Amino acid sequence: MKSENETLIKYFRPASKQSTQILAAVAAFVADHKFMTNWMTIERDGWKLPCTLDKYDWCGLWVTFGCLKDRLHEMLGKGRRVYIKHYQRSCYRSSCMECYLKWIARQANRATRRIEEYAKLTAQKPIHLMLMVNPSQYDLPYDLLRKRMMEILKIAQWEGGAVIFHPFKFNEHSRQFYYAPHFHLVGFGEKDRIARAFGRYKWYVKIAEERKSVFQTFCYLLSHCGIRKKHHTVTWIMELSYSKVPSEKEPKNTCCPACGGEFVPVYYEGVHPIVTPERHFEGLVDSDGHWKTVETGKWIGNEDNRFDYAPFRDLNEILKSLTV
Ligand SMILES: [Zn+2]
Ligand SMILES: [Zn+2]
Repeated sequence: MKSENETLIKYFRPASKQSTQILAAVAAFVADHKFMTNWMTIERDGWKLPCTLDKYDWCGLWVTFGCLKDRLHEMLGKGRRVYIKHYQRSCYRSSCMECYLKWIARQANRATRRIEEYAKLTAQKPIHLMLMVNPSQYDLPYDLLRKRMMEILKIAQWEGGAVIFHPFKFNEHSRQFYYAPHFHLVGFGEKDRIARAFGRYKWYVKIAEERKSVFQTFCYLLSHCGIRKKHHTVTWIMELSYSKVPSEKEPKNTCCPACGGEFVPVYYEGVHPIVTPERHFEGLVDSDGHWKTVETGKWIGNEDNRFDYAPFRDLNEILKSLTV
């Protein structure tokens, strides 16, 4: 049974203890910066910090879906087994107080992959820069600041990368966030050339302190980035823009990998659960006749659930360890 499961879940990446530690540190950072501060309330031009909204009632809810066609699976050479998927639902919204960490993990994971692929392709090391807007320009609208940044980056021959906007900074003494817009760049280019170009517009360039990994850098940057409706938090520019490097499509994960059949809500009727409660699981398990389909109406979910399966099969293993 084990080998069968292994072949089906080969797209899981090895568990990363380090990533879990990084995310735990991010959660601690957010908790600390929310405590007795204006984290929840600060707002400017629609920009807010992450993790400020109530969760949906189903965020964090454990659900079990599966395909119980064990005979069909057997005919297809998978053995007399049912396919079970047990996971915690998440809205993956940056603003959700329950799910923001999963949002960070997912975004950072995607962004890291994109940076790493380009780094490999071009044999370059990514750098992380902070572009600080001159306070005399604080009143300019975001779109103009961004346009200006792009113009300067062109002059500086920045090759490309990710941009994350931070509207706020934190004062450690007063424990208050205040408006101080700046951009973080993670990507490829020449530091000195950038510093010279931005100097001309009286912006400051700071070489950000080195972190252990690109993943850690993204996690940290996302933990207190600017969140605004209809605005992508991580944007990709120049050689790494979506027109040059199309975004990786996450495969939809809504049908049984064993037979292609539909997933339905299921539950286990036996005494000893085969699948550990509150632990992510996906794979084939021996059919012992105790798996049942949840009849419509009995299921605790509501019609709003739309069977939107957590796509965690394609997510980093770290997401699975992020159980609330
Ligand atoms: Zn949520
Ligand atoms: Zn199936």
